[in-house]
Amino acid sequence: MQRISYVIPVFNEADNLCPLFQELDTTARRIGTAYEILFIDDGSTDNSRAVLEEIARANPCVRLIAMDRNSGQSAALAAGFQAATGDVIITLDADGQNDPSDIPAMLKWYGPYDVINGWRRSRQDRWSKRLASRIGNAIRNRLTGETIRDTGCSLKVMNAAMVKRLKMYRGLHRFLPTLLRLEGACVIEVEVHHRPRTRGVSKYSNWQRAWAGFQDLLAVRWMIRRALRVGWHEVKLERSL
Ligand code: UDP
Ligand code: MG
Repeated sequence: MQRISYVIPVFNEADNLCPLFQELDTTARRIGTAYEILFIDDGSTDNSRAVLEEIARANPCVRLIAMDRNSGQSAALAAGFQAATGDVIITLDADGQNDPSDIPAMLKWYGPYDVINGWRRSRQDRWSKRLASRIGNAIRNRLTGETIRDTGCSLKVMNAAMVKRLKMYRGLHRFLPTLLRLEGACVIEVEVHHRPRTRGVSKYSNWQRAWAGFQDLLAVRWMIRRALRVGWHEVKLERSL
């Protein structure tokens, strides 16, 4: 591990950005590995852009990527993945629900594992969201043969080379562990803290997420079924001439 790229999609999170940056920067320094923090402003219409510019101006480790317009979490992540220069990519949400202090314990698994996915055992969201997520994970695992308990946890440590091979589509950020497994990744889940959202609002409604998520699930199931699981080698022959 030589350099860590933290990738954070941002849509209207103005009040969350400074506290998040302070917390993450403290943890990143403590870890000791060289790092960059990429904020991807996904067409925010609040004050997020100005706050990010201020943070980036004062901190050379921060890079600011701006989407041309609001393009969704998958698109913002995809832009961050392409722009990242580290060999390890760590994603987290901009809303402060993920706790950066979980990262050092997750990194201990990096090496034997290529992807460390957070598992929010005690989730701090409304009961309706927790229930929807529980049902979503169960259906997803049933239809894909996966065992991931919390694919929607944004706190993830990932091998950058594998992530950069992914072709992202809208909605596929919810399937990253499965897609990375198709790229040959060894995936492990590690329990992480989860905090209530104290500022700003969630960007998704349950129904929206359920319907879009189901269509995406069928696409991912197709990918798993059709994945090329083949090996090949060139046959070298000795020639008499
Ligand atoms: N987000 C984004 N673009 C969008 C919607 C969300 O970049 O169109 C970001 C958002 O700012 C947050 C993360 O994606 O950092 C997850 O969104 P949110 O916290 O609203 O989702 P929830 O935690 O409610 O599932
Ligand atoms: Mg959130």
